[in-house]
Amino acid sequence: MDTPTECPLAPELARRLREARDDLTRRWLERIVARVSVDPKNIFPTEELLDHVPLLIDGIADYMEDPAEEISADVPVIAKAMELGEMRQAQGFGAYEILKEYELLGSVIFSFLVGTVDSIQEECSRSELLSCGQRLFRAIAVIQQVTTVQFLRQGDAEVREREERLRGFNRMVTHELKNRISAVLGASSILAESWADIEEGERERFLSIIRRSAQGMQATLEDLLTITHADGDARQQRHVRLPEAVNEVTRQLRDMASEREVSIRVADDLPPVEVDAAAVELSLVNYISNGIKYSDPKKRDRWVEVRAYRSEEDQEVVVEVRDNGIGVPPPARERVFERFYRADTVSDVEGTGLGLSIVAETVKAVGGRAWGEFDEGEGGGAIFKIAVPARRSEDEA
Ligand code: ADP
Repeated sequence: MDTPTECPLAPELARRLREARDDLTRRWLERIVARVSVDPKNIFPTEELLDHVPLLIDGIADYMEDPAEEISADVPVIAKAMELGEMRQAQGFGAYEILKEYELLGSVIFSFLVGTVDSIQEECSRSELLSCGQRLFRAIAVIQQVTTVQFLRQGDAEVREREERLRGFNRMVTHELKNRISAVLGASSILAESWADIEEGERERFLSIIRRSAQGMQATLEDLLTITHADGDARQQRHVRLPEAVNEVTRQLRDMASEREVSIRVADDLPPVEVDAAAVELSLVNYISNGIKYSDPKKRDRWVEVRAYRSEEDQEVVVEVRDNGIGVPPPARERVFERFYRADTVSDVEGTGLGLSIVAETVKAVGGRAWGEFDEGEGGGAIFKIAVPARRSEDEA
């Protein structure tokens, strides 16, 4: 770059910029809020993050004052700009919004300097003043670039991680199907070869292996179909508002619930955040149908209830399904998310022991988690929960 012209006003302008940084931060926030109509708490959710912006303004002031010192990776302002990129990725912002934010920051700082420059006594030439403006422009452009690059890098890393998890999920399903097919082939060839020589009881045992394996495959395929239905194009994540996802699932399970005389209750204050449709619908189908399957025949009033709340940072939503069913006995609680695990209390109910493990894998693939809480269940039932990333639906513009 050409050696910049020294402007005698630069040190004074930089000083005023630093002095006004908190006020400028506030004005910037107001402009963003006016534009995107989002709660300011969501824009900079913590005090620490709100500290970023004054530091960015300091960095801009430093560069205006001393342009010989290039903005390089080791200056603190660059580290802050990178952190901001990571944070915006985690908050579900788009690249366009980052560019817009910096455009607003540039315009807030520029109007401030326009308002203050005439009150400085010192003389300077027009070209010197223009060079000061150019430094301001360059400092903002560099910071904007750093934030955006970091934002995109973080996004790429998340996509790669998600792909890796999906590959793991595919490996798991393939492995299970192969095992089941081997069991069917093994048992049926023994039966075919020595039908006459096998005792009745043994024969029944082999037949039951075949039946159970086929049922297992059917259930696994149904789970896979749920994923496919919920997300027609696997490469594209579909987002829906949480209440709509819950609605869709309760609609699907309405007949099953009424057949078993279990009522599905849905809280009327579900947060209207946007969530990954495939993961949330799959989890809820499993949780709610388990709540129905494992209802307690001894109780007259049987219910499954869905509630949800945002977590403190507002970046994820926790959805819980509780029931007043038979509950999970203490030794089984640790293990219900394992593949093929079934508590010994449910041997008379049909199932594969695969549903919860698929929920756990799927939710993990979108950056969330799944777990059960057993002690608090009202009426001795169970509570199953997921926490998944949630987007503010206002962002959808
Ligand atoms: P499946 O229901 O096909 O057996 P899951 O993986 O969905 O498989 O569940 C694993 C086990 O966890 C079940 O067999 C059952 O023992 C227990 N379980 C799951 N949900 C509930 C529930 N709501 N109430 C009681 N037990 C449950």
